[in-house]
Amino acid sequence: MFEELRDLYQEVIFDHNRNPRNFRIIDPSDRKVDGFNPLCGDRLTLFLKMDGDVIVDASFQGSGCAISTASVSLMTEIIKGKTLTEAETLFKQFHEMTTGKEEHIDLEAMGKLAVLAGVREYPARVKCATLAWHTLDAALKNAAASVSTE
Ligand code: ZN
Repeated sequence: MFEELRDLYQEVIFDHNRNPRNFRIIDPSDRKVDGFNPLCGDRLTLFLKMDGDVIVDASFQGSGCAISTASVSLMTEIIKGKTLTEAETLFKQFHEMTTGKEEHIDLEAMGKLAVLAGVREYPARVKCATLAWHTLDAALKNAAASVSTE
């Protein structure tokens, strides 16, 4: 990764950590799931408002490290207006980007989410970045009211 690109990515993460987007409660919400990463102590509650198959609003509450906060902040921005299927595809792509063995990843297709690709180099931080997405995955499947990365 080029030096300038890395700086740019860090700036986006700092910005989303300092000013998290969609940091609020949706009440009433259609989906509400708690996520917890015991390795780092990151906690969040994800709220979704649905219109049929479309995520019309997404928000979160909770507290965690800079990576987990930036990740969930970016995620709530990006999934708005997406269908369940589109969001599920994004989850898979994000998972592949942060944990996959694949050397070549189409970062352009990931848009802003690409700022978190660097966590691949820090295995201890991967769960901080993926917590939001595992919580989303549970919310999409409507399976569980709480998720733990362990
Ligand atoms: Zn963390």
